[in-house]
Amino acid sequence: MSKFLAERHKKLTPYTPGEQPRDMKYIKLNTNESPFPPSDVAIEKASEAAKRLMLYSDPEAKELTSLMAKTLGVKPENVLMTNGSDEILNFAFMAFCDERGTAFPDITYGFYPVFAEINSLPYTEIPLTEDFRINPADYFGIGKTIFIANPNAPTGIPLSLSEIEEILKRNPENVVVIDEAYVDFGGESAVSLIGKYKNLLVTQTFSKSRSMAGARLGMGIASEEIITDLRMMKYSTNPYNVNSMTMAAGIGVLQDPEYTAKNCKTVMENREFTRIELENLGFCVLPSAANFLFAKTEKKSGEEIYKALKARGILVRHFKKERIKDFCRITVGRKEDMEALIAALSEIIKD
Ligand SMILES: *Cc1c(COP(=O)(O)O)cnc(C)c1O
Repeated sequence: MSKFLAERHKKLTPYTPGEQPRDMKYIKLNTNESPFPPSDVAIEKASEAAKRLMLYSDPEAKELTSLMAKTLGVKPENVLMTNGSDEILNFAFMAFCDERGTAFPDITYGFYPVFAEINSLPYTEIPLTEDFRINPADYFGIGKTIFIANPNAPTGIPLSLSEIEEILKRNPENVVVIDEAYVDFGGESAVSLIGKYKNLLVTQTFSKSRSMAGARLGMGIASEEIITDLRMMKYSTNPYNVNSMTMAAGIGVLQDPEYTAKNCKTVMENREFTRIELENLGFCVLPSAANFLFAKTEKKSGEEIYKALKARGILVRHFKKERIKDFCRITVGRKEDMEALIAALSEIIKD
């Protein structure tokens, strides 16, 4: 730390991304990426766009925004495209949170507390229930801006649309952000509610179901008024937030919806296969509607499992946090990757 760092940042703990090691080839089940390459249409569009990289990208992302809106069944005025969904989440913290506070579960996406801290905002962490669920009633009328990942991470457990709706109804004076990074793997999207609830902001991403984590593309979907506020954050920080290759690739992804749908279906099938195999090995597995499983065993600690798998060339994610330190989060990949995982785990729990 230099002596120049502003006082307000001296206690900041930045987000810790999952490992992206380059030392050897691992089976990567640690950062919830897609195991499948992007759509060929996306790759082709991106390489075409590379030829025009001397120009700034379209700050309005017009073509991509209208195609996205059409895909979601909303108006372009209801959509703001961003540099990953992390950027729209940061915009939401900047735009809608103040000294009245912000609330999110104690076990959820690790970036929420970081966004609160960098924006010098007070926040409350609401404990999940004993069985790692979000209790909607804990969020009724709390007078704070609310962030909920649905399905939640790293548990994978979803809330139903009627539970989300109840939270929206009981907080009419506060924005409720529903982070749908994993919604395409079996969750229920709240996008259908944006016309009815002026306090709803849904965020989604191209990083998981759409195989574009490296391109950085995400979005917010909300009432026109909320999108106007978020657009103000964008034009006050980074007007060209989505680069032109990513924009073109995003259009390609949306022009090839069958490919995304097929990959999501495969991931969901492989998730069920893996869940059953893990349970056969005696693991306790939380009920996941995402592209990962959160699992623990009595035979080894979460850290031991993580280390033993890494030694066998398989990466999973382990969190040192007290309530969840027995668990590992396992991204669901290709069938052969999951078979390799199960084979490795059956050896590991033997010795
Ligand atoms: C992966 C993830 C994101 C962020 O994804 P981007 O790559 O920034 O789009 C947001 N929320 C949750 C819960 C995630 O797991």
